[in-house]
Amino acid sequence: MKWSKEAEEAVSRVPFFVRKRVKKWVEDEATRSGAREVTQRHVLTSQQRFLNRMEEEVKGYQVETCFGPSGCPNRAVISEDLPAALETLLSRRDPESFLRQRVKGPLKVHHEFRLSISDCPNACSRPQVVDIGLIGACMPEITEEPCSECGVCMEACKENAISAQNGQPSISESKCLFCGQCAKVCPTGTLKKGKKGYRILVGGKLGRHPRLAEEFPGVFPQDEAMKIVEKCLDLYQEHSVHGERFGEILERMDKQPWEAIRQAGRLKSPPGLLSHKTGE
Ligand code: SF4
Ligand code: SF4
Ligand code: SF4
Repeated sequence: MKWSKEAEEAVSRVPFFVRKRVKKWVEDEATRSGAREVTQRHVLTSQQRFLNRMEEEVKGYQVETCFGPSGCPNRAVISEDLPAALETLLSRRDPESFLRQRVKGPLKVHHEFRLSISDCPNACSRPQVVDIGLIGACMPEITEEPCSECGVCMEACKENAISAQNGQPSISESKCLFCGQCAKVCPTGTLKKGKKGYRILVGGKLGRHPRLAEEFPGVFPQDEAMKIVEKCLDLYQEHSVHGERFGEILERMDKQPWEAIRQAGRLKSPPGLLSHKTGE
């Protein structure tokens, strides 16, 4: 449905973590009233209703995505099914009932477990400030094809992660964010797109005591990332006393997230970092 400029502006002022839901409400409201265009009045009416009925709107979790699935050209990974798979994983645990048992007093949107997926390291969906954030990663691979030393890959790399050594590119693993852009621009195939997966961040939040998520070392194939999300959810549900956020639980445990999960005996061995090199 078409949105007026004023309506767009009004909805852009709604806090980002409920904006998607308010937008849906607004469109439903406009459709019900037979309107062909969403106006500012629809936004204000729906916003007020949302505030009045916030507790009913809490479903216990949120899965956010960036604009990658709409076709953003920066995507390092294209995984159409991951958001739906994560929604299913979360909803099966009935997080709303879980929170109702743990939280004293009315449920608020800020109690919900948040998961955010960004399809590249630009991280537009803010995976650093949610309970679990996934960032799409494409590992550049150095092949046997001769390098023409054109330097295009170095220009494309925003992290200064590529240097030339004996006429061949070399990639710094500590600097590379796995955006895959160098492989995209290399004209000779010396650099090509290698293994794809996700970086995993845990324990971020905003609110009164904001906290940036911590990153697990490595890049994880999608199926392994799903397993780790599941282990994190086990840990969260087992240790949540009053519906506190995952970051608070990890802080209380006073351990690095990966160690906390590993020591809880859930995963037997730490996953390895996928290699840059062909065939490894
Ligand atoms: S995170 Fe990357 S892929 Fe997603 S919208 Fe932003 S730039 Fe595009
Ligand atoms: S994938 Fe390539 S362009 Fe992206 S950060 Fe790594 S080396 Fe740089
Ligand atoms: S690796 Fe590719 S893009 Fe980089 S300098 Fe060599 S040929 Fe050019």
